[in-house]
Amino acid sequence: MKSLWNDAEAARYPGDLGQCVYASRLLGQDQTLVMHGGGNTSVKITDTNLFGEPEDMLYVKGSGWDLETIEAQGFAPVRMDRLLKMAELESLSDTQMANELKASMSNPAAPAPSVEAILHAILPHKFVYHTHADAIIAITNTPDGEARIREVFADRCVFIPYVMPGFRLAQYCAQVYPTLAGPQTVGMVLHKHGIFTMDDTSKVAYERMIELVSLAEAYLQRHNAWQISIPHMPAPAPSLRHDIAALRRDVSTAAGGPIIVAVHSDDACLSFARRDDVGIISQQGPATPDHVIRTKRLPQIGRDVAAYAAAYEREFNELAPQIEADLTMLDPAPRIILDRDLGLCTVGRTVRDAAIAEDIYRHTMKIIVQATALSAYEALPPFDLFEVEYWELEQAKLRKAGKAPVFTGEVALVTGAASGIGKACAQSLLARGAAVAGLDINPGITEIFPRRDFLGIPCDVSQEEALIAALETTVRRFGGLDMVVLNAGIFPSSKAIGDMALDEWRRVMTINLDANLILMREALPLLKLAPNGGRVVIVGSKNVPAPGPGAAAYSTSKAALNQLARVAALEWGASNIRVNSVHPNAVFDTGLWTEELLQTRARHYNLTVEEYKANNVLRVPVTSADVGELVAELCGPVFRCTTGAQIPIDGGNERVI
Ligand code: ZN
Repeated sequence: MKSLWNDAEAARYPGDLGQCVYASRLLGQDQTLVMHGGGNTSVKITDTNLFGEPEDMLYVKGSGWDLETIEAQGFAPVRMDRLLKMAELESLSDTQMANELKASMSNPAAPAPSVEAILHAILPHKFVYHTHADAIIAITNTPDGEARIREVFADRCVFIPYVMPGFRLAQYCAQVYPTLAGPQTVGMVLHKHGIFTMDDTSKVAYERMIELVSLAEAYLQRHNAWQISIPHMPAPAPSLRHDIAALRRDVSTAAGGPIIVAVHSDDACLSFARRDDVGIISQQGPATPDHVIRTKRLPQIGRDVAAYAAAYEREFNELAPQIEADLTMLDPAPRIILDRDLGLCTVGRTVRDAAIAEDIYRHTMKIIVQATALSAYEALPPFDLFEVEYWELEQAKLRKAGKAPVFTGEVALVTGAASGIGKACAQSLLARGAAVAGLDINPGITEIFPRRDFLGIPCDVSQEEALIAALETTVRRFGGLDMVVLNAGIFPSSKAIGDMALDEWRRVMTINLDANLILMREALPLLKLAPNGGRVVIVGSKNVPAPGPGAAAYSTSKAALNQLARVAALEWGASNIRVNSVHPNAVFDTGLWTEELLQTRARHYNLTVEEYKANNVLRVPVTSADVGELVAELCGPVFRCTTGAQIPIDGGNERVI
């Protein structure tokens, strides 16, 4: 591990708080030190208060901030005298502690201080940095971890046996640290949790972290437990989407609602899932206690979700009575699944949650393999982890949590999503919490929404294999398929039937009709597994109820698609799949409408372009966004009793009405 400290860059961060911000960001950049809100940092500063008096403050990382991107305002200023007094209390509930910490801040607008604030306060150095370094944990999480840590650091680090983070840990350290620490002390190792380093300058405190973690890495290296060679694995089966969607259906049932399942079948994940001893090494517990919130205590092995949920519930019923508070059981669904054929599956209410679980578990697998190479991987006992998973502040967050967006945990696929109505549909579905796969022939689709709950797939919908591959990719990324919006289509230039070439006719049918048949057929088994029932929305056209001359191929393709949708509504209703159509008209902000086409159509109706654009009963412009919102609503609970419907969205058309 190398120090990233750069004096010139550090100089751009003014003052003691700036120096702490700079070091925090350096620590945060290295995922082998901290991940996803893990770790915390602080600096002790004497401020002048409103009355002109000096006041000793602890600026400590606020909750909700990641070290990697933290800024000065991400630190909570807490009065040192109050923190030190709190450390001397006989007992303090974590809720009381959180209240007192907030009440002790000099700036009430600052974020809530880290629950480790008191611990930072009692350590007698200006700068205090705490990480969950992988290399340290690979050593502590072994049966003889304490002896090994003492061997690595001798008297340079104080060793603290495991104590629940929060007030109890701070109280314990306040009692033992002064007697254990000496002039040679530069750090503190928390058994099966992480490491602290400290100094009166930010640079030294940071570089000590790097130095101590490097010593741990060198120790692992000396014991052939550092370099983990990942064997090359035979590739997983090419078609796993039905298996994955069935697994997700079961996980969703256990979770009490739709959930994202992301499948990772690279060599690192497959080789771990296929180890002969996976049933032992993966069933010990997480690397550091706060991971339990993201990964649960144990991964599920294989596909029996009901058995996992039953075991989780049993453990809850066994351990909950040992805690005084009245606990609400979290959903018993796994967050990590290890499967011989799939590899690593990570589960989350949102794509972000599943990605965080992935990041954490990738590090956990490495730590487990390293600890196993050293001697054996050993995590904390179940009750210690249970205390963290059911920590009162986490339970309070749970009770306060607002209502999630309507499509949270659901997956939608939209064709023709790079522009116009398709893009607007994707936007409206994303806004309602769905993960969205967008297909488009335009390769720019991959860049259209730079967010991880959107997957852009370049795809020529006229190619059957391309459609099937897109479904496979979508299900591996998100776990299943709940909603399909069939929007992709072409609108050829105006042509009379007398001039219609068969080639052109067939091209329109291939894209506007055949592609949708293939996609519906291939999506059906996936939609049947949708936890809240499948939904299909077809973007039709006003031309279905009211065709115009010169658009025979387009109108016929859309009318046939409309009939396909009606038959699907009849066939699929018993599988709880709803199929509805929208018939937009005169939506001019789409790729179909070039200026030239607008003029041609306007001329056709003996109107100017302006008149043509406003040519509806309500005299309202109909935008792509309007159609996107209607399509998303059709997938939502308002329309839960509606299937086979055709809804015009055209500002009112006299011929349709
Ligand atoms: Zn920690």
